[in-house]
Amino acid sequence: MSDSSDRTEIKKLGEFGLIDKISGNFINKNSNTVKGIGDDAAVLDMGTHYQLISTDMLVEGIHFDLSYFPLHHLGYKSVAVNVSDIAAMNGIAEQITVSLALSNRFSLEAIDAFYEGVKAACEAYNVDLVGGDTTASKAGLVISVTAIGKVEKGKVAYRSGAKLNDIICVTGDLGAAYMGLQVLEREKQVFLENPDMQPQLDKYTYIVGRQLKPEARMDLVHELLDLNIVPSSMIDISDGLASELHHIATQSGVGLNIHEDKLPFASAMQEAAIEFKLDPNTAILNGGEDYELLFTISQGDFEKVKNHPDIHFIGYINEKSNGLNLVTNNGNPIPLKAQGWDHFS
Ligand code: ADP
Ligand code: MG
Repeated sequence: MSDSSDRTEIKKLGEFGLIDKISGNFINKNSNTVKGIGDDAAVLDMGTHYQLISTDMLVEGIHFDLSYFPLHHLGYKSVAVNVSDIAAMNGIAEQITVSLALSNRFSLEAIDAFYEGVKAACEAYNVDLVGGDTTASKAGLVISVTAIGKVEKGKVAYRSGAKLNDIICVTGDLGAAYMGLQVLEREKQVFLENPDMQPQLDKYTYIVGRQLKPEARMDLVHELLDLNIVPSSMIDISDGLASELHHIATQSGVGLNIHEDKLPFASAMQEAAIEFKLDPNTAILNGGEDYELLFTISQGDFEKVKNHPDIHFIGYINEKSNGLNLVTNNGNPIPLKAQGWDHFS
């Protein structure tokens, strides 16, 4: 037994602090390890191209609740969130492995449903399931997926490449996955209090769908390739826009301003936020799980994408000393705080 004064609680470090602590103890020894810990995927030099590898784990009770998460959607989402990390490097995913820890609570039919979703995602993203591991669990379902992809050496996009005056771009709309989660959690409570009540989800189809059926924006990676644009930096939005902007700014050594009136959202997200008495900006900035792409482009590339219907220009990169700010609708810059998700808090 160690003295309790030697003990450091993980929540004191937080998720990112813990990752920094782990990575600080390791130095890469192999010259083909181009990028280790710290980006959306590791980057390995394969001679002709770079290989990308990313792993994400989904844990029952932390990342999903099986009382409202259909297993086929869970299978799809487990693949999509990993493919999204390959997309965030400007790469194309090609293979996945899927590892499961499950209890005897699960039937063959349940596992079949899960793999139906995995298969649908393999079709949608053109990836092959090439392996995995299966083991027993006493504490619910744990899913670990690894995605492998590739990118041309000159086209990899790191979190660290944003340059002064670059334009900050974001795809799709933000905050809906978080509001969808609020709806699902509320309906679960209603059901627990009165099991005869049927969930009322009709008017929330879009936002609930964004939570249960996220898509990796592999389509955008292909489009950027076709347009001959290599983003100067890129990250996918898993923890929330503000948190991801902090990763880009910190790793690129820059500051940035984003503009409230440019932030993309769906009206269904706004309506739900108002109903839940939440500021829609909170969902947009800190909601997470939208799996859209956040990236920067040089001013010279703007002409090629300025009319793209699904790319939104939300601000500019500037000096580090400027810090990170949200310029509100009345023109005031306010410091952008990164709340994001922290599962250890
Ligand atoms: P993302 O949200 O894009 O999946 P994470 O925040 O999970 O990224 O991870 C950031 C970086 O830290 C990645 O390079 C990831 O591989 C690495 N990482 C996370 N957890 C660990 C760990 N336990 N050991 C080593 N590396 C880790
Ligand atoms: Mg990521």
